Amino acid sequence: MTPIDYSYYRTLTAKELEEKIRYFNSRYWNDSDAEISDDDFDFITRLLAEKDPENLLLSQVNSPGVAAASTIRHDPPMLSLDKVYSLPELESWVEKTVRSPEEELLVQPKFDGISVLWENGVLSTRGDGITGQVVTAKVPLIDLETIEGVIPLAECPHAVLGELLIRTDDFQNLYSKIINANGRPFKNSRNAIGGIMSLKDISSMLAQHARLTMVDYSIFSRKTTANHLHNDWQMILDEIEELPYPMDGLVVKLADGEYMRSLGNTVHHPRGQIAFKFSGVRRTTKLLGVTWSFGKNCLTPVAELAPIEINGTTIRRATLHNLQNILTRDIQIGDMVTVERAGDVIPKIIKSEPGTERKDCLITHCPCCGSELVHDLPELRCVNPECLETRLQNLLAAVRNIGIERLGEPNLRKIMTDLNVRTLPQLFNLSMLDIYSLDGFQGTSTQNLYREIQAARTVPACKLLAALNIKGIGPNIARTILKKYSLAQLREAQPEELAQIEGIGPERAKSVYETLRDQASILDELLSCITLVSDTGDGSAPKICFTGKMPEKRAWYEQIAKNAGYLPVDSVTESTSLLVTSNPDQISGKTADAKRLGVPIQSLNLWLDSVRTFVPKKEEPEAEEEQLTFDF
Ligand SMILES: [Zn+2]
Repeated sequence: MTPIDYSYYRTLTAKELEEKIRYFNSRYWNDSDAEISDDDFDFITRLLAEKDPENLLLSQVNSPGVAAASTIRHDPPMLSLDKVYSLPELESWVEKTVRSPEEELLVQPKFDGISVLWENGVLSTRGDGITGQVVTAKVPLIDLETIEGVIPLAECPHAVLGELLIRTDDFQNLYSKIINANGRPFKNSRNAIGGIMSLKDISSMLAQHARLTMVDYSIFSRKTTANHLHNDWQMILDEIEELPYPMDGLVVKLADGEYMRSLGNTVHHPRGQIAFKFSGVRRTTKLLGVTWSFGKNCLTPVAELAPIEINGTTIRRATLHNLQNILTRDIQIGDMVTVERAGDVIPKIIKSEPGTERKDCLITHCPCCGSELVHDLPELRCVNPECLETRLQNLLAAVRNIGIERLGEPNLRKIMTDLNVRTLPQLFNLSMLDIYSLDGFQGTSTQNLYREIQAARTVPACKLLAALNIKGIGPNIARTILKKYSLAQLREAQPEELAQIEGIGPERAKSVYETLRDQASILDELLSCITLVSDTGDGSAPKICFTGKMPEKRAWYEQIAKNAGYLPVDSVTESTSLLVTSNPDQISGKTADAKRLGVPIQSLNLWLDSVRTFVPKKEEPEAEEEQLTFDF
């Protein structure tokens, strides 16, 4: 299989493209031999669609010839869907179709099989949409998958619209032992289903226990809204990729069926739904090499690719996720890999086929410190505690989780190498002069970074817990845990107890327990230089309340609090994050409330220390006045 030259195909006329498509389609389905990749085939059909949108061939390709008993007339017609090839194209379709940004949309897989209808004991293909082929003879091979479960299709009493295909796991397990009419194994699942559907007599397939699956179209559906589509897109794509069916895209449709039907159809397509085809965002190329970059607690493989163009951008690198992914898929240098680029996300490799000349891409020793690497699946790790790159990534993750957003990798690297910082407490103890001494820092940038670091010393416990880099514990899970346990209680809890918390499970419980035990001294040090506040939960400013007689006017402290990101309030309620008291030994109504509601209490001096960068310098005029008095 060789990649085609896109620029050559762009020069062809509609007629020439049509000939190419007919040739490749017939090679694919009839000779069981694909000369070009699916992506390249889709590219050529797309060119034809651009040059001649009404071309009849467009509704006929991508389907095999079937051995049919007779034909059937579909009423209403089974139309094919209009297609888009990128997220921006999809978004512009959504924009012109929805009634409001809150309009609900359904996203479903677009299966890569044969569209079929089961009705009154007759199974028929979509055909050209109006006339389909009757293929009831194949029913003994077919299981029906619906949300309720799997049954033999013959036993389904009601009508179903769905896709006839071979599950990817079936193809791997079952079909490795099945041979086709030529006495050879099928090349891929699309090829197998085409081959089986073209058989007049299925007895050899029945004898070999071949299995086809009809998937009810409503089996998998994710809801989103027009305004959330962009953010949800990658998550939905990832979820759909996990499904065990061959797919070539997604279907996006309006959730309001009545409104969707009211939009009606063009000659070819319904207006209320659209297909998102992967081929615009995917291409196959050669894997030239693999580099291992440092991530949090692990090394991440990055693919170096023979350059390819996807949606107008040249792609040279793609993520390979982790060691497990490389081992499971047996990816080696020299393999042909399919790269996907969806939206703005990093391109990733979603498929691979062995190349002719292959070379192992695993490494055994750390590129930074030279220590022997450990396979701690799914990750590859450098476990040397002194490894600078590993510590940099861990500290970077901690810095992000605790909320110092201005400090990126290049500057943190400088801080680690030039100022010998290795931990969060050391970072908090940096002076403004330390930061100013770093290459590239000026007055304002020094002051900004210093303030941001100091502001991060006032945190809700969940951010602190997330900053400990415990495996599987991000800010959200940390919040769930801390709803049930205070940080102090958490440090005393046994793994069995922790495992009972909803959403934690034994594995996370074990890593929480072990990290808190092994890092007890680091945590103590950290706790000594930060101020814990209650979590507002919604990202709003933490509420602070003051009590007791203080040296300055209350407004002065409230202004400092505002500068440090707090919202000053007059009374202690459940949503208050911190109560600051001038005298911790004195019991006021507010301290009693705080104790009852579990709101943290802090002495004024400690609090002022934690926000000292926000405390204004003493007013000069006062001092002058004193001096004047003295002069008299
Ligand atoms: Zn290392």
